[in-house]
Amino acid sequence: MGPRQVRAEPTRNETPRDVATEERRSLGFRLDPRSETPLYQQLFDTVVERARSGAFPSGFRLPPTRNLATELGTHRNTVVRAYAELEHAGFVSSTVGRGTFIRPQASAAPIARAAEPTAAIPWSSLVSERARAEPFERFRRIGRQVARGEFVNLTRMQPSPDLIPDDLFRRCLDHVLKSHGPRAMGYAPDEGVPRLRERIAEDLVRQGVPARTEDVLITTGSQQALDVIARALVDPGDTILAQESTYPGALRIFAAAGARVESVIADREGPSMAALSGIGSRGRVKAFYLQTNHCNPTGTCVSEARRRELVRFSREVGVPLVEDDYAADLELEGGHPPPSLRALDGDVLYTGTYSKKLIPALRVGFVLCPAAMREHLVALKHTTDLGTSMLLQHALAEFLERGLMVPHLGRMRAAYRSRRDALVGSLEKHLPKSVQFDVPVRGVTLWLRLPKEVAPEAVFEEARRRGVLVSPGALYGVDGTSVGVRVTFCFEDEARLVEGGKRLGQAIDTVLAKKKLKPSAEGTVVGML
Ligand code: PMP
Repeated sequence: MGPRQVRAEPTRNETPRDVATEERRSLGFRLDPRSETPLYQQLFDTVVERARSGAFPSGFRLPPTRNLATELGTHRNTVVRAYAELEHAGFVSSTVGRGTFIRPQASAAPIARAAEPTAAIPWSSLVSERARAEPFERFRRIGRQVARGEFVNLTRMQPSPDLIPDDLFRRCLDHVLKSHGPRAMGYAPDEGVPRLRERIAEDLVRQGVPARTEDVLITTGSQQALDVIARALVDPGDTILAQESTYPGALRIFAAAGARVESVIADREGPSMAALSGIGSRGRVKAFYLQTNHCNPTGTCVSEARRRELVRFSREVGVPLVEDDYAADLELEGGHPPPSLRALDGDVLYTGTYSKKLIPALRVGFVLCPAAMREHLVALKHTTDLGTSMLLQHALAEFLERGLMVPHLGRMRAAYRSRRDALVGSLEKHLPKSVQFDVPVRGVTLWLRLPKEVAPEAVFEEARRRGVLVSPGALYGVDGTSVGVRVTFCFEDEARLVEGGKRLGQAIDTVLAKKKLKPSAEGTVVGML
C-alpha cells in the first residue's frame, strides 16, 4: 500500500463559517451494526455508490472524519479507514489541510443499443454438424429445461453450500495472495503448477492409484481432460466405445470431436467381454471410455476380474482405456473399490476431479497420461484455454499441503451417508415394488430401474409437476434410451430428500395409473383386465 493520508480536520484555509456549515450538514448516511459487512466497508460502499450516481459530484467535499463519526455514532477510526480505502481506490483525494474531495468519475459509457440481426447470415446452415449432433439436441430437450419455482432438486451433482469448506479455503487463498502475490496471478505452466502436480500425485497414491508427478497434467475440470483426450485421439468418423448408459457430458465431447460412439452392453460385473469380441470390424476404434467405480448414472462398479479382462482386451486390440474416476474418495461405507485400471496398466488414461469431493468452482481436474501422449495433450490443453487458473491451483495445493483434505472427506462422507440413508428410507417406503434400486456404497447418485411400461420421461414430467427434479434415462443412454431415472443425494438435506422420495413415489404411481387407464385403439381399457 502506498502512503495514504487522510486529513479531516478543519484547516487554517477554511473559514469558521465553512466549518460550521460542514458540521451542520447531514449526509443521511446510516450504518448497520448488525450487518456482516464491516462498518468502514458500508461507508466506503455508500460513498462509491453516490459518487458513481452523481449524487456526490466531482469536487464534492466529504465531512471531516470527526464530524462524520459523530453523525454516524461510530468510532472516528472507522471513518478514517473508509476514507483511506476510498483514496487508495481512487474515488477521493485528500489534500493535507483542505479535506477529502470526490474525484472525477470515469464517464459512463454511452448506452449501447443492440443492433438488430439482419437476415443476411444464414446461421442455421452455417452451424456445424457436430454442434447439431444428437447428444446436443438431447441436452437441449431435457438437460436444459429451466425449472422455475421451489423444487426438491435431485439432479444436482455437487456438494450443497453447507458442505463446501469455504472458510478453510479462504485461508488458503489468503495465504497464497500474501505469500505469492502477483506471482500467483500470471498464466500457469502448461502442465499445471508443479507443487499441485506433486500433491495430486501424492493424493492419488493415498487412494491406491500409482502416479508420478510427471504423469499428472492439470486440466480445467476433468471435463477438459476428456475433451483433450478426445481431440488428441479422434478423427471424424472414428469410434469410441462407452458403457451403454454413461455420462452425457462425455457423449457431447465425443460428438463434438466427430466420433461415433458405440455402446457396449453390460452385466452385473461391468462391460460384457462377449460384446467386445470382433471389435476390429467396427471401424477405427480409438478408445473405450469407462467409469469403473461408480458409473454415472447406473452406479455399476466394474469387478476386479472384469477390470483385468478389460486391460487384456485393451492390449490385445491396441485400444486405450479412458478411466473416469470422478467419484474417487467418495466411499460411503469405508473400504476401497477394486484396483483402478490405471493401477493395472500404465497406458490407461485416468481422469479425476476435485469438483465432487471439494469445490466445483475450482475447476481443477487432471489426467494421468502415458508418456507417449503427454506432448499432444499438453499442446491441446494449452490451445483450449491457455492454462487452468494459477491462483486456484496454488490455493488447492495449499489446501492439500495443510492436510485439510482427509478431515474434509471425513465430514463430507458422513453427510453423504446420512443423506443417502434418508433418501433410501423414503424411496423404500414410497416407491412401488416394481421399481428397483441398489443402495450405493460410493458416489452421490442412485439409479432407479423402472418397469418397462413406465417411460422415464413421463416420470421426469410428473415428478416436476409435483416439485421434484430428477434426471431421466434418455440423457444417459448412448443410443438415446435407458429405462431408469437418476437421483442425487448430495445437494439437498435429509428432510428435503425424504420429501423428494415421497413425491417421486407418488409421481411414479400416477404414471403407472395413467398407463393402466390408457384406452387401446379399440377403445377398451388395457391393463385393467
Ligand atoms: N465425469 C463425470 C462422470 C461427471 O459426472 C462429471 C461432472 N458431473 C465430470 C466428469 C466433469 O466434472 P468436472 O469438469 O467438474 O471435473
